[in-house]
Amino acid sequence: MCGIVGYIGKNEAKDYLLDGLETLEYRGYDSAGIAVLNKEKISTAKTVGRVEHLRKEEAERPVHGSVGIGHTRWATHGGVLERNTHPHHDKSKEFYVVHNGIIENYEEIKEFLSKQGYEFYSDTDTEVVPNLVHFHYQKTGNVLSAFQAAVQTLRGAYALVLLSSHDSENLYAAKLSSPLALGVGKDELFIGSDALPVAGHTQDVVFLEDGEIAVVNTEGYRIVDITTKKSIERATEVIEIDSGDGDLGDFPDFMSKEIHETPATVRSAMLGRLRADEQIVKLGGLELVEDQLQFIDRIIIIACGTSYYAGMVGEYLLEEIAGIPVEVQQASEFRYRQEPLSRSTAVLVVSQSGETADSIAALKKLEGSGILKLGIVNAPGSTLARMTDAGVYCHAGPEKAVASTKAFVAQVTVFVLIALKLAKNYPKFSEVVKALNVIPQQIEEVLKLEKDIAKIAKEYAHHNDFLYIGRRYAYPVAMEGALKIKEISYIHAEGFAGGEMKHGPLALIDESFPTFAIALSNDMDEKSFSNMQEIHARNGKIVTLVDDKNSPSAKLAQDIIVIPKTIEPLQPLLSSVATYLFAYHAAKELGRDIDKPRNLAKSVTVE
Ligand code: GLU
Repeated sequence: MCGIVGYIGKNEAKDYLLDGLETLEYRGYDSAGIAVLNKEKISTAKTVGRVEHLRKEEAERPVHGSVGIGHTRWATHGGVLERNTHPHHDKSKEFYVVHNGIIENYEEIKEFLSKQGYEFYSDTDTEVVPNLVHFHYQKTGNVLSAFQAAVQTLRGAYALVLLSSHDSENLYAAKLSSPLALGVGKDELFIGSDALPVAGHTQDVVFLEDGEIAVVNTEGYRIVDITTKKSIERATEVIEIDSGDGDLGDFPDFMSKEIHETPATVRSAMLGRLRADEQIVKLGGLELVEDQLQFIDRIIIIACGTSYYAGMVGEYLLEEIAGIPVEVQQASEFRYRQEPLSRSTAVLVVSQSGETADSIAALKKLEGSGILKLGIVNAPGSTLARMTDAGVYCHAGPEKAVASTKAFVAQVTVFVLIALKLAKNYPKFSEVVKALNVIPQQIEEVLKLEKDIAKIAKEYAHHNDFLYIGRRYAYPVAMEGALKIKEISYIHAEGFAGGEMKHGPLALIDESFPTFAIALSNDMDEKSFSNMQEIHARNGKIVTLVDDKNSPSAKLAQDIIVIPKTIEPLQPLLSSVATYLFAYHAAKELGRDIDKPRNLAKSVTVE
């Protein structure tokens, strides 16, 4: 899930490489490195840690040259050590490679190469690649055919870029499962794991597809099929990417900025789609498949992490509003399940980045099945956006903090719109439309509670565990709230449906194990109250999220957070934001690295 960059042109390669790596740092940030070619000599700069450390390292020992590659790592094989930092080279330092993903058969290849006298300095799977290229180069004396032969042997998921001291005119790239974008400038070519780093330099981008190799140089690019070696014609597309609004403004970090962007996120997800006065929902992205949608009698939502919880909210929404049976599955499970699917089932994939490896694999499994593939994706032009038959973009803008917040809110908003769009005789249609229209202002009200929420979060931040509970629409929010606090504060947390408490989790409760209860007004009030009674009776401390400070649940809690009232199907849009503020301030109290929590990366492009 790392970030990969490459540059070939007339300028100092390191400028693009370092800036590009910084843009891609959300994909991985264990260690970083670059390799630059200058007159047949390749020099490298590598560090464990962030790109800012790499910048310092490079400034002390500068690397010069106009051809180069770079990498930010998210370790899969081997610890976060300098020797495992990419770019990796062969034994004679003629071939340097950056790699995103996993080479599944690297042990086999290593054994083979070892028998040929090759030695290895790192613990990575990647290191076999430059050595394998070297092995083939000995026979052919041609970099492209050596790279082709090497790549043909690899199994797993990869995006690779190769730099060779034998060829200062070209860079070589290959891809299977992991994304790779080529940006074509004037007399220069930029490579990136996605189009974001490229976007600041050129809008002409071409995306490499699985099973392809690209040869790139100052004049452009040539794409060939890895197996047939036939040339593939593909024109560039013009991409318009907001290259990330890198400016934090007055915010201390991106997570805080993004939480505060949630009202605007809902507005932009609804823009041009919801005409509240006319009671019309218009989703251009689904128009193409509107006829097919009439025959859909089951939807399977596929997603991972936060998107999975948005999918669970989507399940409740689609079932209640559109009356369609829905099932939500983790993409990592769906892809390996033997599940009979009928043609009247649609699969709907939800992903912020649009590059999630498991979700991509899940859709691939459906190729040729005739099953309708829909998407709710945030990143335009991403792999998933391109793989689906139709879909609705979230329009949340780039999300930089690893812990997703505004993307969840946008995904849920889109689910509400899709549910309304597919609704046939939903009696509360106009009520939902009316309520949705004022949600952005209501989220603003939630944000105004930040100081109070921060105070409570600080009090609870030093606990080792937290339980989150909610019923019905609040259940996925409880799971999402628990995930968020886990991700950024490292406090162990679990989300449960309130009704499940006495089937196990209640055993955990004592005075040191607090609960965050979501108990907003709806016809489950009494049930939520009973769950809280059970916790209270075991001396468990409770923080309760309510929309009525006089509700019985509020009275039972040690601390309450009171948010505005809305109808139940829209409550997740408000309650999630409150849980985000809570997790954020708990993490802040513990001095955590909010935007880049340990062991995680934003875009999960490995299995
Ligand atoms: N598998 C490689 C490693 O562990 C690459 C991981 C990545 O995608 O950053 O070094």
